[in-house]
Amino acid sequence: MMEIELVQGDITAVRVDAIVNAANSSLLGGGGVDGAIHRRGGSAILAECRALRASRYGRGLPTGQAVATTAGNLPASWVVHTVGPVWSASEDRSSLLRDCYANSLRVADELGATSVAFPLISAGIYRWPVEDAVRQALAVLTAARPTTVTRARLVLFDATTHATAVGVRERLR
Ligand code: ADP
Repeated sequence: MMEIELVQGDITAVRVDAIVNAANSSLLGGGGVDGAIHRRGGSAILAECRALRASRYGRGLPTGQAVATTAGNLPASWVVHTVGPVWSASEDRSSLLRDCYANSLRVADELGATSVAFPLISAGIYRWPVEDAVRQALAVLTAARPTTVTRARLVLFDATTHATAVGVRERLR
């Protein structure tokens, strides 16, 4: 069984084996949590991302997929970069959002990570409604088969988002 924690905070300060980055497909940095990870993590992460673009992902990392780099100056050991879908009111892209969590977990497991922290993927610049973003995250994390990862932490940036996430989990019980 994987333990799932909902915490409020800044994911760049979290001490776990792997933190997940809500990246964009360029892998070359952006705003939101992506910007914070590259700022705090230093240029080593960006150098590895550039190498990934030059080798495996010439056209960018596809939405829903995940790939790891080391974590530079961050307290974590690895960053797992994943690309969430942009919210669409006319098209259901939720399976791609769930793929982000599932593929990030798989990559973390392949690294031998036992603890992983996730931001609320797609719920910022990509405009996914917060309650549904939490629902999609919990759907994957609660159904995950046992792997080396025994602790998953969903890190909500502000108090309002954290309270919403706790409410969503209560209603699922
Ligand atoms: P996306 O482009 O996938 O929407 P964002 O980074 O814009 O990604 O937002 C995803 C979520 O991460 C949002 O809820 C945002 O408030 C949150 N966030 C932004 N910075 C941080 C941070 N340093 N730690 C944790 N969460 C963060």
